[in-house]
Amino acid sequence: MAAQETVDHKYVYDFAEGNKDLKDLLGGKGANLAEMTNLGLPVPPGFTITTEACKAYLATGREPDGLAGQIEAHLESLERGMGRRLGDPHDPLLVSVRSGAKFSMPGMMETVLNVGLNDRSVVGLAAQAGGNERFAWDSYRRLIQMFGKTVCEVPGEEFEHALDEAKRARGTTSDLDLDADDLRGLVDAYKKIFLKHTGRDFPQEPREQLDLAIRAVFESWNAERAVLYRRQERIPADLGTAVNVVAMVFGNLGPDSGTGVAFTRDPASGAQGIYGDYLANAQGEDVVAGIRNTVPLQDLERLDKRSYDELLGIMARLEGHYRDLCDIEFTIERGKLWMLQTRVGKRTAAAAFVIAGQLVDEGLIDLDEALHRVNGAQLAQLMFPRFQLDHDFESVAKGVGASPGAASGKVVFTSARAVELAAEGEAVILVRRETNPDDLNGMIAAKGILTSRGGKTSHAAVVARGMGKTCVSGADEIDVNVPAKRFSVAGQTVSEGDVVSIDGTTGKVYLGEVPVMPSEVVRYFEGTLDPDEADDALVRAVHRIMTHADAARRLAVRANADTGEDAARARRFGAQGIGLCRTEHMFLGDRRELVERLILTRTDTERSDALAALLPLQRDDFVEIFREMDGLPVTVRLIDPPLHEFLPPLEQLAVDVAVAQERGEDVAKEEALLAAVRRMHEENPMLGLRGVRLGLVIPGLFAMQVRAIAEAAVRVTREGGSACPEIMVPLVGAVQELETVRAEAEKIIAEVVGDSGVEVLIGTMIEVPRAALTAGQIAEAAQFFSFGTNDLTQMGWGFSRDDVEGAFFWRYLELGIFGISPFESIDRDGVGRLVRIAAEEGRAARPELKLGVCGEHGGDPESVHFFHSVGLDYVSCSPFRVPVARLEAGRAAVETVGSDSR
Ligand code: PEP
Ligand code: MG
Repeated sequence: MAAQETVDHKYVYDFAEGNKDLKDLLGGKGANLAEMTNLGLPVPPGFTITTEACKAYLATGREPDGLAGQIEAHLESLERGMGRRLGDPHDPLLVSVRSGAKFSMPGMMETVLNVGLNDRSVVGLAAQAGGNERFAWDSYRRLIQMFGKTVCEVPGEEFEHALDEAKRARGTTSDLDLDADDLRGLVDAYKKIFLKHTGRDFPQEPREQLDLAIRAVFESWNAERAVLYRRQERIPADLGTAVNVVAMVFGNLGPDSGTGVAFTRDPASGAQGIYGDYLANAQGEDVVAGIRNTVPLQDLERLDKRSYDELLGIMARLEGHYRDLCDIEFTIERGKLWMLQTRVGKRTAAAAFVIAGQLVDEGLIDLDEALHRVNGAQLAQLMFPRFQLDHDFESVAKGVGASPGAASGKVVFTSARAVELAAEGEAVILVRRETNPDDLNGMIAAKGILTSRGGKTSHAAVVARGMGKTCVSGADEIDVNVPAKRFSVAGQTVSEGDVVSIDGTTGKVYLGEVPVMPSEVVRYFEGTLDPDEADDALVRAVHRIMTHADAARRLAVRANADTGEDAARARRFGAQGIGLCRTEHMFLGDRRELVERLILTRTDTERSDALAALLPLQRDDFVEIFREMDGLPVTVRLIDPPLHEFLPPLEQLAVDVAVAQERGEDVAKEEALLAAVRRMHEENPMLGLRGVRLGLVIPGLFAMQVRAIAEAAVRVTREGGSACPEIMVPLVGAVQELETVRAEAEKIIAEVVGDSGVEVLIGTMIEVPRAALTAGQIAEAAQFFSFGTNDLTQMGWGFSRDDVEGAFFWRYLELGIFGISPFESIDRDGVGRLVRIAAEEGRAARPELKLGVCGEHGGDPESVHFFHSVGLDYVSCSPFRVPVARLEAGRAAVETVGSDSR
């Protein structure tokens, strides 16, 4: 019967049955434990309950049919293999019950160790451990504590409190000083706490313990902190977690036992070597929680050379096998090494580039694969500024550079305060002795994290690296006093609200605000740092990978730039032209008055005067840009201001006029202005008289701009340069609008350009849904389309782009209506579909139609992949994002099997 169910729905896999490619089903931890088992590495035996079982449980609130029987069968086989029975009074098998989702979520879900211990088996365990009663009672109290907190929601502080009491009674501060009797007493105290909160005795039946622990791990998928972490890391909410049931091995059996965490390369810098932390006589959780200070892994060579050498051999083997940086957790039980976990390790942005380059050199991966090992978000992070330390800045402490970056801010000591101050717009540094998963909110809100304990693998370090947040951990010169809201260091006291600066690369801590300087990577992009001369492994790796991305990509990358200066920067960053020059930005400042006159005037003469005054100013703007972009296309968009941005505010004007009238002043002019502003007032300016509509309503406006563009192009060409203007009409919804503008523009262009050889293209933005849906018609009149995905999103969703993100998007994100704002990353299903339809129908009508995008999405990594898949010719984004878009366009072009690391 059980066998029949197994065939139908297989919910449980022995480690020997899985492999590393089954992460969807077995989670990352389970899949990799299986892989290591099959490689013949020393993995304690066990089995994995699938994510499908978890999803079924979460959907129905009960274990799916067949699961219990399968667990029974696998448990029996585990017991047979180990020659022990779960919780046997004389020689108990104990198991750990660990979560493990597809993507690593460090510390966010639950684990219960030592399942199988009870009042009787604790005695057997002591006997089997050579009469080590202390060890057995310590393991039992840990089980009650973890089980109580995780499975039965007993407040953790109550256990902590009882532990502190026991230590106080013994006159010590270290749990290592508690003897077997103390711990036996503590078990009694814990049981009372358990009974008080749950109304029942601590379960003595091992199988019941196991089932309840499995259920608690399933449920921890939806724990608040896990939900928050997923949202932050953009991990889908419906994956569920697998549960690993693993035979316990003990690192807390004495000085010849211990536990550790290691990386096959430095996850902060990418440097080759062995990096890790080791803690003798401890269980795994003690290392990651940063509760006791660890020793460097290298010290293990002295402590236990045989295990050390074996570990190094395994690490080299894993790197070769996974062809990537691996991180591992291991335990040594009385001189015997056990592998508890491995995975492709999280790393900093800098390490990602450096390691990808190294792996190519080592022949483990090719350059296409190297491109997949990095991403645009990491590159963006490397472009952040760094501290400028040529001044008198003395560091006051040095910890571990756990996650790079430079962060200054006001010191806070609690997660709640971090959130509060950040909401007021303050930069804050969260300072803790160590962080735990409950600090996640504060870590998200803070600019940086500083801890006095823990190494590169502590919770703070791992989580901060994952988020790309600056972190210094283990700065043990700092004495943190959370209740008093202060820390002391180097004879000084730093209180909440004081400013500190932390350097996540060097691990140094400074008092006050340290000024910042541009990153090396930016200097490389700007051309002031030659990659061949740089003795910086990072710059060389970035150069190599960018060169490959540029060679591989099919999408060109342009920039959105409105000034010569921006154009020059964009070009240095690798822009292949300008995809959007917003001309309304050229009408601000002291030109504003002319525009106001232009819009409000009712007489032809006044209007012509205003236009005549604007023409040379505009022409000079374009000359400057064409010169900088010599030989490259420049898309100039005709003016598209929402009217209200150019008119004086109605309410203010009305008040001014009323006050002046009251005083009996002559306000005829102001009254006329007020009447005009009233006339033109719009309830929905974003849907009002803007873009092509304005051009069709105000005679001569577009004509002036077209003339300025053509004249500038001719001037630059006559100087010996090469100007390639593309005139773009905004907000077109119907082909007739475009045809009208185009007819007038062509006449002017023909007249200005003459025989100069200048060629001017005329095209349109596709940013009104109707334009996308009638793209076939519009393409008849357009030489190019550029998707204005900002407006397309605004009008596609009906979301006012100026209002909604602050107003209610938080609720939509909370409800999972979307995982990220559609203004940030293209909504593929809806707005993206409009883009696809327009691209297809436009090209069908005019095969040579040039297609680009110039909305904010042009620089968003995810969206770049979409635009590649739609077959656009280019993306255009702000100058600073040009390198990111180049990289992502390259990645999109070599989209094959990427590594699944997050
Ligand atoms: C757009 O709408 O996407 C666009 C680029 O135009 P703007 O942001 O200037 O409205
Ligand atoms: Mg627009």
